[in-house]
Amino acid sequence: MASDCLFCSIAAGEIPANIVHEDDTVVAFRDIHPQAPVHILVIPRQHVTSLDEAKKEHVELLGRLLLATGELARREGIAERGYRAVLNVGDEGGQTVEHLHVHLVGGRRMGWPPG
Ligand code: AMP
Ligand code: ZN
Repeated sequence: MASDCLFCSIAAGEIPANIVHEDDTVVAFRDIHPQAPVHILVIPRQHVTSLDEAKKEHVELLGRLLLATGELARREGIAERGYRAVLNVGDEGGQTVEHLHVHLVGGRRMGWPPG
């Protein structure tokens, strides 16, 4: 755990969040500024800064993140209509929190290309 990391603190239960899923590897909670009717952040418990930092040793963790995202989409009732799973990476990618996270957004039609 990185002591100065917001998402590590949420995963550790030190900062409150609207948690919708927890297991040994993954934590998911509702985004505080939702951009769609469903907007959930899916994070690894382990501190990894971004996809750019991901290595072979993180293969299991990355797979678990994506599987949890798909499962949450089904549970939230947006899987049939479709949804977006997004990883913002670095400055130009729009990443503001430096702890790897998947945005699960859905419940409305998504535009393309993204902004
Ligand atoms: P990103 O810009 O891809 O790094 O995404 C970070 C996301 O974290 C943004 O969508 C924020 O709204 C969200 N966020 C920031 N602080 C919190 C918080 N305390 N609880 C839930 N979501 C948060
Ligand atoms: Zn962290």
